[in-house]
Amino acid sequence: MRKKIVAGNWKMNMTPAKAVELVNTLKDQVNTEAVDVVFCPPFVCLPAVLEATKGTNIAVGAQNMYFEESGAYTGEIAPSMLVELGVKYVILGHSERRQYFAETNETVNKKVLKAIEHNLVPIICVGESLEEREQGITIDLVRLQTKIALKDVKAEDAKKVVIAYEPIWAIGTGKTATSMQAEEVCAAIRTVVAEIYSKEVADEVRVQYGGSVNGGNANELFNMGNIDGGLVGGASLKPEFASIVNY
Ligand code: PEP
Repeated sequence: MRKKIVAGNWKMNMTPAKAVELVNTLKDQVNTEAVDVVFCPPFVCLPAVLEATKGTNIAVGAQNMYFEESGAYTGEIAPSMLVELGVKYVILGHSERRQYFAETNETVNKKVLKAIEHNLVPIICVGESLEEREQGITIDLVRLQTKIALKDVKAEDAKKVVIAYEPIWAIGTGKTATSMQAEEVCAAIRTVVAEIYSKEVADEVRVQYGGSVNGGNANELFNMGNIDGGLVGGASLKPEFASIVNY
């Protein structure tokens, strides 16, 4: 039985002080053992959020990291920096990073390998644009994104990764994929994991849905057989996040 995981991607929102306020508003209501709950604030808010979530079951994740250990990479953050703070998860390959910061399937794969080397759990984002959906290539594209992201990842590590299916047309648009659309692609992701590794690995890997998840649609989405929770953007900044966690 896979444990559901609900992660809040705060994107470029909040300051350290505001982040603490948000944690204090949410933490009692989302402090559960039933679901893995992850807050992913901006880098500069990580220490404050880690401090404010101490003593709870809430884990903290970063929204990105670089694939080198250290060096002349101005503006980048290394995995060891996150680990030393106490960060447990890292979102990799979010469509906004692919779109605005030129991340590719190949750089995502390098980041996935590096995160695993440092015992960070990658939340690997995959998903199609509206144009790609209309062309009927969603499944092929998501399969390819998943395959490349997992290249050279060992089976025992692949079991622990989280894959977030996030159709780009549903992110921040208020337009959610139907539970059937989301289930179809999440099932295809699990199939490709089974093809690369085994049914055993595919049965363990957690596949989230992301794209305008809210308090009203979380229950239906998260009750689909292949959807193991959600990656939540806009609604993770609101009290509504609690109703998503407690779907
Ligand atoms: C996201 O950014 O990962 C996301 C799913 O955003 P939203 O929930 O706002 O659509």
